[in-house]
Amino acid sequence: NRAGFLSLLDQRSDENLSSALAYLDLDRFKPVNDLYGHEAGDHVLRVVGKRLHATVRGSDAVARIGGDEFVVLSDCDGSDLERMAERLVGAVAEPIELPGGQTVQLGASVGWAIGEHTTSGELLRRADVALYLAKASDEIRVAEYNAEVATRDSDRRGTENELRRAIAEDELCLHAQPIVELSSGQAVSIEALVRWEHPERGLLSPGLFVPVAERSDLIIDLDRWVLAEAIRVASRLPAGSPKVSVNVSGRHLRSPELADFISSLLDDYRCPADRVQIEMTETHEGIDSDAALATVNRLRARGISVALDDFGTGFSSLTHLLRLPIDAVKIDRSMVSVIDKPEGSAVVDAIIGYCHAQQLDVVAEGVETGTQERLLRERGCGLAQGYYYSKPRPIMELLDEITAQAVGKAAR
Ligand code: C2E
Ligand code: MG
Ligand code: MG
Repeated sequence: NRAGFLSLLDQRSDENLSSALAYLDLDRFKPVNDLYGHEAGDHVLRVVGKRLHATVRGSDAVARIGGDEFVVLSDCDGSDLERMAERLVGAVAEPIELPGGQTVQLGASVGWAIGEHTTSGELLRRADVALYLAKASDEIRVAEYNAEVATRDSDRRGTENELRRAIAEDELCLHAQPIVELSSGQAVSIEALVRWEHPERGLLSPGLFVPVAERSDLIIDLDRWVLAEAIRVASRLPAGSPKVSVNVSGRHLRSPELADFISSLLDDYRCPADRVQIEMTETHEGIDSDAALATVNRLRARGISVALDDFGTGFSSLTHLLRLPIDAVKIDRSMVSVIDKPEGSAVVDAIIGYCHAQQLDVVAEGVETGTQERLLRERGCGLAQGYYYSKPRPIMELLDEITAQAVGKAAR
């Protein structure tokens, strides 16, 4: 399907014909496969394929080009294509009966683009960029690649190129924030947080460039830079120093090379594995995939602890908690900030209770006030992180201060 479709697209672009492309991605397909098996998944794909066919005009081409991705190639113009995209979404959303008698209901997002004198690869890429917008939004299901999207897309690609250069030229640096043991007030670990020392724009926070990196393999280069720097720093700390905790993107976690890469860094720097912790964010797509699970198992077998970051922001948190073999859970700031409200405190109570029962460490993130600290302490939360203790600061500056405090304490 994919090969046939691409050659059709090439042929049209060779003949300089204008093509309209709708790129459709199913929502909630993976759970169908997981819950009902691959035969049910295949059945769903066939039903969706037939429905898409029945929705488009006879002269349009429909193809499946990836796991749960379909494309429609048409020669209709903008407004027609938008209506067609809406119809495609509607057709997919009708309930589907499985061979076993159960019924499932899927959703779909569509990105579309129209190209004249555009190569087939570029047209596909544009439709994919629009699809990304549709998927990222809760409100819209259908998005067009228009002038505004094109500008944002080229900005993003500009940032991507600049970031690639920045990583190569060592413009990144590490800040860090302590994770404090509530019973002793001591920093038991520090979280490395990447910053970009941009030559013109100054110090940039990760929110401005990590999401850009995450859209491509650039995130792997970024994470590798951070891992190497963090492990280098950790290897030079005296025994008894805090652990260094490093964020790794979900995309990277699925890569089979990650565990080997970290392992060889530990060897190269002669760094004991128990000085390093990896944080993975549950909102990242695919952290519950088999590939991510394999990485987590290998890291832990090597002696590296793993924490589930930003817990409570994803949509299937409890599934992750049950499935992933982890050492610690970091409760997201959004939950900690409502701990003084009855609903908020009930949820935090439940998370802490669960973690205790499973012998997992619990870290409260984003603690900003003494009241929050007291409420957390009363609930038996062991660890906390937030502006109340320290804002992120250059990693060496923070470590020097922690060491000075420890020395001072020992002298007293
Ligand atoms: P995170 O891992 O959940 O990191 C915690 C973020 O919360 C940090 O933002 C930190 O500055 C902020 N924070 C800590 N305490 C407080 C508080 O009391 N109040 C408020 N309002 N915020 C607080 P930062 O450094 O901007 O990092 C944002 C996110 O970027 C991180 O969230 C992490 O997901 C990602 N990130 C940071 N460094 C890296 C990295 O090296 N690699 C990857 N892949 N992602 C990174
Ligand atoms: Mg983190
Ligand atoms: Mg976090």
